[in-house]
Amino acid sequence: MVTTNVDHCFQKTGFDKKRLFYMQGDYGLFQCSKSCCDKTYDNESVVKEMFYKQSNMKIPSELIPICPVCGEPMTMNLRIDNKFVQDKGWYDACGRYERFLRRHKNTKNLFLELGAATIRLLL
Ligand SMILES: [Zn+2]
Repeated sequence: MVTTNVDHCFQKTGFDKKRLFYMQGDYGLFQCSKSCCDKTYDNESVVKEMFYKQSNMKIPSELIPICPVCGEPMTMNLRIDNKFVQDKGWYDACGRYERFLRRHKNTKNLFLELGAATIRLLL
């Protein structure tokens, strides 16, 4: 499935990540704000810790996510500017989708768009 949703909801429901191409990024991942490398980091445990330790809408300074490569702050992995990181998982998902399209290019297909998500079904 191809989705432009970035809310990480497919993964939270248990949808197999290997069947999902989250082309515009994912709120469930951090990346370096300077995009110094092509790595992303699952952020669920850090975000939960931020939630539980917040006070007056602020988190403790030590919880501000820092890039382990360059030391700059981390940000969400979202395609909002030219610093979007397409990590190995992104390229793997893109490749799986491209192979699917090539495999079925001469078959009848139905595209369903549900909200902001597009689902392609093989008929
Ligand atoms: Zn960095």
